[in-house]
Amino acid sequence: MSSPVWHPFTQHGLGEPIPLVTHAEGAILHTADGRRVIDAISSWWVTTHGHRHPRIMAAIAEQAGQLDQIIFAGWTHEPAETLANGLIEMMPAPLSRVFFSDSGSTSVEVALKMALGYWANRGEPRHRILTLEHSYHGDTIGAMSVGARGVFNRQYAPLLFDVGLIPFPAPDREQVALDALEAACRERPAALIVEPLILGAGGMLIYPAATLAEMRRICSNHSVLFIADEVMTGWGRTGTLLACEEAGVVPDILCLSKGLTGGSVPLAVTLATEAIYDAHYSTDRSRMFFHSSSYTANPIACAAANANLAIWREEPVLSRIAALAERQALHLAALADHRGVRNARQLGTITAVEVGSGEGDYLSELGPRLLRHFGANNILLRPLGNTIYVMPPYCIDETDLATIYREIMNAIESRDHGCAN
Ligand code: PLP
Repeated sequence: MSSPVWHPFTQHGLGEPIPLVTHAEGAILHTADGRRVIDAISSWWVTTHGHRHPRIMAAIAEQAGQLDQIIFAGWTHEPAETLANGLIEMMPAPLSRVFFSDSGSTSVEVALKMALGYWANRGEPRHRILTLEHSYHGDTIGAMSVGARGVFNRQYAPLLFDVGLIPFPAPDREQVALDALEAACRERPAALIVEPLILGAGGMLIYPAATLAEMRRICSNHSVLFIADEVMTGWGRTGTLLACEEAGVVPDILCLSKGLTGGSVPLAVTLATEAIYDAHYSTDRSRMFFHSSSYTANPIACAAANANLAIWREEPVLSRIAALAERQALHLAALADHRGVRNARQLGTITAVEVGSGEGDYLSELGPRLLRHFGANNILLRPLGNTIYVMPPYCIDETDLATIYREIMNAIESRDHGCAN
């Protein structure tokens, strides 16, 4: 009988082989059939310092010997307290409150509920959320609602709530986006949610820091809450600890997950300003923040995140990131010269190109063919339709990075998938 496991974003009917991974180290995965696979996408953008970073593994082992799990409603523990204090120190003021959850999607759900709770508790209910065209914020119903509508969520459309869509600030279209935001803000929405500087699952679409700063300014002028979803961009991906930093922007609400534990175990946080916390603070129980999940602030996950914060404080993480970004730039420049490649772009440690003819979408035939090529050549790369992107762990060595780009080149040139023209 085939495996009973039902995998995410996987069409089992295609019968594609599913590699069984036995162990990992740094940027490398090892499979049961003895293959050494280069993790070119940080296992879905989570692994920052590398798989099984010794300090994070030691922290997990030590915490497992102390306290595994405890209800977090009305109870607390040292790893969560340390982590919350560490985050407040590290993240920009005035973010002063930390709410724990367990995935990027739940951190977004929490952000949306905080925004609506803020307005409701101030006696000025507002419900509408503004979002950027092509956004992705996760796969729960609320997170899907504020993301782009399309193949990912067409079947669930009747359950999704209505949002105000702001055009993506594509090159030379920035002012169109800003004008649309200005107009939408006059309708008194509750909040704008954005992926700062780069839209990830929407196709690694980059927009300027100045536009992000301007979006923040417009929201502030109209008292519209500004939610930064840094689930992908946070923890150095774009070159700085937060992408918002590059625009000098401080959000009212900040979502973090993925690299929060260095990508080792699931954890998320939603940070908020004192004003948002205060709106829920009362002796009246009906004004509390009504959200929880069983594993909120799991102690082992918090210990892993504390080790990640220690790495950030004590190791030259930003210079490692800068060095990786430089190496990525050299490889991208060589790839960009290829006639089969369009729109080569980079933000920090992330590079992306378009291949093949036509725009293609997530279901384009090219994606699976590229995926097969990379799989057969021991590289974990998952193109987004016609978009091939590279987002490796910061520790990847030069030989492995060069191998990734060589295989991208080979994939483009391969006659099998006919994308060289
Ligand atoms: N927000 C952004 C910007 C993301 O890129 C993702 C996942 O890729 C999410 C939210 C959802 O995170 P998760 O898959 O952990 O629920």
